[in-house]
Amino acid sequence: MKILFINLPYHGHVIPTIGLVKDLIKKGCAVTYLLPFSWEEKIAESGAEFAGYDNHKQLSKQMKNAYAVAEGMIEQYDFVIYEQFFFLGKHLAEKYKKPVARIFTAPATNETLMQEYIASKGPMSVFKHKWIAKAFTKNIAKGIPMKTDNWLDEIIFNPPELNLVYTLREYQPYEAEFPEAQYKFLGPSIFDRKGEPFDFAKGQNPVVYISLGTVVKGAEAFFQKCIEAFGDEAVDVVISAGENFDLRKRLPANIHIYRFVPQLEVLKMADVFVTHGGMNSVSEALVSGTPMVVIPFASDQPVNARCVEKLGVGKRLEYSQASKETLKETVLSVLCDADIKNNLAKVREIIGQAPGNSGGAQMIIDYYESRK
Ligand code: UDP
Repeated sequence: MKILFINLPYHGHVIPTIGLVKDLIKKGCAVTYLLPFSWEEKIAESGAEFAGYDNHKQLSKQMKNAYAVAEGMIEQYDFVIYEQFFFLGKHLAEKYKKPVARIFTAPATNETLMQEYIASKGPMSVFKHKWIAKAFTKNIAKGIPMKTDNWLDEIIFNPPELNLVYTLREYQPYEAEFPEAQYKFLGPSIFDRKGEPFDFAKGQNPVVYISLGTVVKGAEAFFQKCIEAFGDEAVDVVISAGENFDLRKRLPANIHIYRFVPQLEVLKMADVFVTHGGMNSVSEALVSGTPMVVIPFASDQPVNARCVEKLGVGKRLEYSQASKETLKETVLSVLCDADIKNNLAKVREIIGQAPGNSGGAQMIIDYYESRK
């Protein structure tokens, strides 16, 4: 089977899918992965053939560019896979009568969750004005028949037959609204990632790992607060600070700041993970059994923070309340919390039984065979 995999250039939307592509290839499929040209090296890790489109800082242009290149290639393929954000994947596949599967790298979305994402202060908040969402949709989807006139409604009300979600059913909010036959919950995407050089080694003290993911910007003052909170504590702190933090600053000896770290490796060493609650970060912490302090910003992060609290695998702290005192108190309380450790052990057991990427790849192949 020849598969065309279409995605948009957002780290959290791409990384988990690399594991799925690896498993599809292992099971004999040929996969071409379509992303902006600058992603070629990252995609090489998956073993897929790469196809590129021109990137653009505007989401609408990214989508249009992806659609135009995908349309020029689709005839050569038997199957289309797309991440939900590139909502036109379904429409394109239908136009060319190809079977299609959709991937969710965030929880599957219903109307209530979508309202929550829009209401949060993230990049989706611009769509709180319906007329903006409609104009955006009209601009991208010119001439493409749709069920609704709003791309966010298309995501909710126009699903394909097969949807693979990178979480556990136990973790999916409003899970009863996602029929078993149509929504398959794979659990976290676990796969061997390419090793990256990293010079931090765990010593005697507990390790606190702090990362706000790859999208949150402008948190330099927050990282500074973390330095002040833990600089004189008997813990080692690893911070993934992104592009803008001044790495030349003098730091206490127990604070280690990097632009980017191999997160899976660091989580294995970490005793607490201070995270923005991105879906991948939360999943990765569940897999490694690392207690969390979630400081949610926007999009699905508040929803993920609620799930962390519900599962009892960490605590939530509001960004506006995150002073050096509350940070220290919350992190240290999570560090010694035996209930959190027990709950993590239970969640890890459930994850061990989830289908994962290998199960997801087989579902795609079986669905394709059943449609022949
Ligand atoms: N990540 C990483 N090293 C870093 C920071 C992030 O490997 O220093 C990875 C992390 O493992 C995760 C992804 O980037 O897979 C972040 O995705 P998430 O959904 O948590 O957050 P987003 O970046 O989409 O907000």
